[in-house]
Amino acid sequence: MKVYKFGGASVRNADGVRNLQKIIGDEHNLFIVVSAMGKTTNALEKVFEGVQHGDPQTSMERIAELREYHAAIINDLWHGPKQLERVEALFAELERIATQTDYDPRDAELWYDTIVAFGELISTSIISDYLAFAGTPNHWIDMRRGFRTEQRHKDAGVDIAASAPLLRAEIAAAAPGIDIFIGQGFIGGAPDGSTTTLGREGSDYSAAVVANILDAESMSVWKDVDGVMNADPKIFPDAVQIPELNYLDTIELAYSGAQVIHPKTIKPLQNKNIPLYVRPFGDKRKPGTVIRGISSPVEVPILILKKGQVLLTIRSRDLSFVLEEKLGTIFSLLERFRIKTNLVHNSAVNLSLCVDTTWHIDEAVAALREAGFDVLKTDDMELLTIRGYTEELFLRYAQIGPKVFIRQTTQSTVRVVRKQ
Ligand code: ASP
Ligand code: MG
Repeated sequence: MKVYKFGGASVRNADGVRNLQKIIGDEHNLFIVVSAMGKTTNALEKVFEGVQHGDPQTSMERIAELREYHAAIINDLWHGPKQLERVEALFAELERIATQTDYDPRDAELWYDTIVAFGELISTSIISDYLAFAGTPNHWIDMRRGFRTEQRHKDAGVDIAASAPLLRAEIAAAAPGIDIFIGQGFIGGAPDGSTTTLGREGSDYSAAVVANILDAESMSVWKDVDGVMNADPKIFPDAVQIPELNYLDTIELAYSGAQVIHPKTIKPLQNKNIPLYVRPFGDKRKPGTVIRGISSPVEVPILILKKGQVLLTIRSRDLSFVLEEKLGTIFSLLERFRIKTNLVHNSAVNLSLCVDTTWHIDEAVAALREAGFDVLKTDDMELLTIRGYTEELFLRYAQIGPKVFIRQTTQSTVRVVRKQ
């Protein structure tokens, strides 16, 4: 079995879906993982916000736009007006949920997951029907049943051991002779039966878990870039493609904010030593980037800019030494609110943490204050990482200036926390 993953950008229009079918070609034994089309997940977040703010009007408007957007893709694919029953049913269900009046703010994350999951349910339904129509029989899998996740919403991890028999049963349910499977990225089911999501951009991780469970020979992520680049070409000119990476470097890159692959993707692959190909959607013949256990060393510097950061400067009110006495308390509090720390800097009594902005950041700050710390929170920060920096890059990007709050330098890596 091979696993192919197609992101939202790759299936954002009818051409994208046709191209997906071209890439599948006459392959067999394929598990295809697909994200929501285009920017659907962002739009569904707005649907959720309408529910959250008691504003069904907004939710219904967003749903109407999504209906139109998907209908245009369907009509294009079928060369004329076409209604897909299962897609209609999904939209009807989404509308029902969005206009339900028993919203309880304590269940915000459950509502979020339930609503946002529709993007992938809709995209995979369209693509599965289209593939069948275009001569590629396939079996659609509901990953809410195929994946058992933790009982946590918005950022759930998949319980691989518990999911393995479920996913295999879903596969076994296919009609005889069918060996192409299609499932949603990004979503799963909690032990209590509710829908969960795996964190924004989590479809890569879904595909990796599928690959792990099915002992796949490889996983390929089809993207609108030629492969993994050493920098975001939109931000840093002169970006070049990296032909090979190892798992470890890839985790470091993803963690630093490189948009190559979701950071949780590598572990399930590494456990089974499955190679990961990042390949250009537009041209199947191009080699892309291969990621595996061992690779030749990366020969170019790598530049990564991670936006949406907050700097927390934490000091205990009794002036105890932060590393010796307080570290455990601080990090277990942050873990409780699922705050992801990207950089740590300390003095005797201060601990500075560069963390991701999330829903729970203010609650975490309040809890830290409650626990006896003074906390200074600085918003709108970004974290720049340069691995394998040269003197020239250092001078160009890592100079201390009024916007720079922290700079950390080792022999090979420099990291800068600065105002956006
Ligand atoms: N559709 C989800 C998102 O946009 C998951 C993904 O694309 O990987 O975050
Ligand atoms: Mg997406």
